[in-house]
Amino acid sequence: TCGICVEKCPFDAIEIINLPQELTEEPTHRYNENAFALYGLPVPEPGKVTGILGPNGIGKSTAVNGLAGEMIPNLGDYDDEPSWDAVLDRYRGSELQQFINRLIDGEIEIARKPQYVDQIPKQFDGKTRELLEATDERGELDYLVDRLSIRPVMDQPIDSISGGELQRVAIAATLARDADFYFLDEITPYLDVGQRMVAARLIRELAEDEEADRSMLVVEHDLAILDLLADSIHVGYGEPGAFGVITPPKSVRKGINEYLEGYLTNENMRIRPEKITFEEHAPRATTKGMPLVEYPDLKKSYGEGEFSLDVDSGTIYEGEVLGIVGPNGIGKSTLAKMFAGSVEPDEGSLDFELDISYKPQYVEIDQPMRVDSFLSSITDKFGTSYWNTEVAQPLQLERIMEQQLTDLSGGERQRVAIAACLSDESDLYVLDEPSAHLDVEQRVQATTAIRRYAENHDATVLVIDHDIYMIDLLADRLMVFDGEPAQHGHAKLPQEMRAGMNDFLADLDITFRRDERTGRPRINKPGSQKDSTQKRQGEYYYAP
Ligand code: ADP
Ligand code: ADP
Ligand code: MG
Repeated sequence: TCGICVEKCPFDAIEIINLPQELTEEPTHRYNENAFALYGLPVPEPGKVTGILGPNGIGKSTAVNGLAGEMIPNLGDYDDEPSWDAVLDRYRGSELQQFINRLIDGEIEIARKPQYVDQIPKQFDGKTRELLEATDERGELDYLVDRLSIRPVMDQPIDSISGGELQRVAIAATLARDADFYFLDEITPYLDVGQRMVAARLIRELAEDEEADRSMLVVEHDLAILDLLADSIHVGYGEPGAFGVITPPKSVRKGINEYLEGYLTNENMRIRPEKITFEEHAPRATTKGMPLVEYPDLKKSYGEGEFSLDVDSGTIYEGEVLGIVGPNGIGKSTLAKMFAGSVEPDEGSLDFELDISYKPQYVEIDQPMRVDSFLSSITDKFGTSYWNTEVAQPLQLERIMEQQLTDLSGGERQRVAIAACLSDESDLYVLDEPSAHLDVEQRVQATTAIRRYAENHDATVLVIDHDIYMIDLLADRLMVFDGEPAQHGHAKLPQEMRAGMNDFLADLDITFRRDERTGRPRINKPGSQKDSTQKRQGEYYYAP
């Protein structure tokens, strides 16, 4: 079974055990006979930020196309002309009624930020400034450009700026518009934690503008940011590509907790067999394995006075997962490449005899080859039941095995690259930003796969990532980078989690508290009592 419904599959495809209430009703929209069906709709609320939490392929864009008036939901009747009157009838008396009325009267202006910002240069040919000036409907563009640090790339062609810059330009272009309904499909890809916080803050500011009554709808897979950003959330679940259910709104805390616990209370629905748990207290200093690598002080610079990196000498122990954190442009990938042997340090040398398996930040696997042939060329364990359970299943590779590498989406490519990295028998595994392009459920699964792999193989793993939940669930110790992005970076000694988190978060001026029910970390409101107390005590992450 697909694990969602339990009783009768709406597609007669799978045997199931229990049918969720929503699925006994007609869907909100069905594309065609046996095609994808969406159940439920999110409710945009004036003055509020509404979040959607759920995997890709369960109808979020479909729902938004309906709410934007770009498509009339057919209420499951794909043979007849859909009509707004029928939609209004269906939602009369619900919280959506007023929104749909305004939509029909043409009163709703929408601004949307697309999910894949990499596509923007294919659609727009010109400089950043030209793209942004066309969107400046509220006279706030200068403010957004400064807050999002876009100024340095204003006169660069759009096709020459980095992914992180493109993401910030896309956010600015959306928020600069004067709309009633804003839809932001992911704000965090390619951004570091500080940039994520700024983007979240700007979205809240726009929602809280009392003159305007704007509704914000945000899809986000970084749970720490979603938690901070949204006033309420809809959980989306289902079978990606087959059907999706958008639940009624829940409080953010309850929604995220239920998602992590794998069980939706009101819906009486299990969405995952096991729950995700966090360690509330700093893990005890673990009895370390033997040193695997003792590296000396290292230096590397690019060009004349462009960027320089200083690495303090340190030790990586056998069997540990070392998290690596720091802002963008600070030298994290440069260090990963030095370990992987593709970049030579200018001073100090890494002449160890180790096999290293490296997943780069920008995954380029472009051979004209099928996924299964590619993976079986890496490991002779390919296809064994062991490899299937440990690697293929958690990374959801079954469904894409027969596809060509060149046809894969960003998230699919990422999962294949993580699988390839873990499948290559090595002494040290280096994963640069494994969360990029993954939806929330894939992050959970990938984290479990990496962690389980490390434990079962006594493997030593280095993981660079900006998703705090992923780092928390993965890392035994932390290496923190500081410095001045694009100018100078400094990699400190690996530290215990408590010291490392304090170091990292003090730089960002963010503290976390723990959710009472699940122990998951939640960002404190700046200036709140908890925030001030923890800062005074120097406990940014594991409050006593
Ligand atoms: P999400 O935004 O959650 O990733 P989408 O709403 O984009 O999901 O898509 C949900 C499903 O609907 C996908 O399986 C997609 O292939 C399918 N779908 C999207 N548009 C169409 C269409 N015009 N005709 C048929 N199926 C479609
Ligand atoms: P991070 O992974 O922390 O984002 P990187 O190691 O990728 O940082 O880059 C650090 C700095 O070095 C950035 O300013 C980047 O533009 C620059 N840089 C990276 N690779 C090169 C290169 N091959 N030539 C010149 N500059 C580079
Ligand atoms: Mg990097």
